[in-house]
Amino acid sequence: MIPQGGIRYLNPKITPTVQTMKFLTALKTALGLAPGCEKVNEFLADYVEGTLDEKTMAQFEEHMDMCKCCSHYMDQYRQTIDMTKQLDDIVVPAELAEHTMFFLRNSEAFSKDEG
Ligand SMILES: [Zn+2]
Repeated sequence: MIPQGGIRYLNPKITPTVQTMKFLTALKTALGLAPGCEKVNEFLADYVEGTLDEKTMAQFEEHMDMCKCCSHYMDQYRQTIDMTKQLDDIVVPAELAEHTMFFLRNSEAFSKDEG
């Protein structure tokens, strides 16, 4: 059940290279040569939308590869986006819409009376 790409990962000759790459990214981040967590999270929405330029996207992906916090955050962000997209299919029952509008109109009128 090991996926084809996964076998390369089990090769001990490859693994140190991946570790080295992660170490170099961490080092660059520590030296301020690569964007840190805070900066990377500013790019998150653009990355998910696919509007980042190539250089920033490469830096973003390098960071996601080495930073568990940010990659976990991105997973959650993606899940939230997906759930929000599914909400488009929900039709609000007419009665609920009416009640909500009634409530909003009345609360607006109430706040005008106050002022
Ligand atoms: Zn991070």
